Amino acid sequence: MARSIGALLAAVLMALHATPSQAQPSSPAPVVFDNVRIFDGTKLTAPMNVLVEGNKIATISAEPIPATDTATRIAGEGRTLMPGLIDAHWHTFMARPSMAMASTAPMTLITLMAGAEAEATLLRGFTSVRDLGGPSFGLKMAIDSGIVEGPRIWPSGAMISQTGGHGDFRMLHEVPATSNILSYPERIGMSAIVDSPDEVRKRTREQLLQGASQIKLTVGGGVSSPYGPLDTVQLSVAEIRAAVEAAANWGTYVTVHAYTPEAIRNAIEGGAKVIDHGQLADEATAKLMADTGTWWSLQPFLADEMANAQPDPAGQARAAEVRAGTDNAYRLARKFGVKVAFGTDILFDGALAARQAEQLQRMTRWYTPAEILKMATADNAALLALSDRRNPYPGKLGVVEAGALADLLLVDGDPTTDISLLSDASKNLLVIMKDGRIVKNALPAS
Ligand SMILES: [Zn+2]
Repeated sequence: MARSIGALLAAVLMALHATPSQAQPSSPAPVVFDNVRIFDGTKLTAPMNVLVEGNKIATISAEPIPATDTATRIAGEGRTLMPGLIDAHWHTFMARPSMAMASTAPMTLITLMAGAEAEATLLRGFTSVRDLGGPSFGLKMAIDSGIVEGPRIWPSGAMISQTGGHGDFRMLHEVPATSNILSYPERIGMSAIVDSPDEVRKRTREQLLQGASQIKLTVGGGVSSPYGPLDTVQLSVAEIRAAVEAAANWGTYVTVHAYTPEAIRNAIEGGAKVIDHGQLADEATAKLMADTGTWWSLQPFLADEMANAQPDPAGQARAAEVRAGTDNAYRLARKFGVKVAFGTDILFDGALAARQAEQLQRMTRWYTPAEILKMATADNAALLALSDRRNPYPGKLGVVEAGALADLLLVDGDPTTDISLLSDASKNLLVIMKDGRIVKNALPAS
């Protein structure tokens, strides 16, 4: 008995730590993209030919790639080949269900919705996502082992929050907490509630045990959280440091949910490497982020028809305050040269999730299409690489280069002049490749 349980656990751990190439049953046949113009980070190149072998780009050449018996050939006909998109702030479990559903429906339903949403995410051209809170470990295993389609996931596991903090989703009747009795969101791995450096360490290590590639702390108020107002500072510097130390010992880093200058400063003092949101930052904080090399994972939250709906007036007021800061945040990031990542943070709205790529179009207020494309590919890949020894998919991402992992999109048209092409993936993304495998090919068979 003990032996069979041991074998079972070993199998689960193998799946947990498997890279896709190990997990996929057989490596895909070589693929040749003939006559494509490659997005090189700033512009489209002259026509090129690209050979993909296994899960990597093997050759990029202006010369034709010789015919072989086994290779699948894709006639690019001068179309654009670009890296797969990356969303640096995504919630695989919270994007599609409504908030009421997420907190009341059976977990089996929420999990199946997350699986369906993962496939939809990949078919929108997002080949990688950084999951910033939610029980995504099993979904990641299912995707990596080919059970369901979906993007590569960099999981944080539960978001770690103090009592009353942004990740505290308990009902009022559950307070005061009875020691050792976990609330529903804690039991399912949506959030973890901590109130001392020791508790932070324990919950951090629990996420790392399950395969977290980075740790997410919430260090200030938020929009969708009912208790801690936006201005509150959450977790002490000592508590943040406890997570940073535990993550660093495991070879990775801490990313934080924060809006205000006070929360951002505390996080940086505690050793966090990425600020998520930060819409209420001021000049001094933006400069501090630049000086310390801290990443700014910003979302284009705006008061337009794509804004996440808030169920009550207090939530609407919080959302309005944050959205009013978005324009200033992007301007400050550019002024001080802060490293900026692109993320959407779409929550509890399947219709909005379906419009994930339209968020790129919103960024044209501040950036050129080429700058936006680079941010959502090469720059976001550099952010993902912060996971260092805990990076679940070692290798180069976000670029079309020999030796890089083959996550590729064949776009009908030139997204460096019209980024809205990416908003209609079903029409304009003719081929989607992830890890060297063709996920979608809408070109007529030749
Ligand atoms: Zn989020």
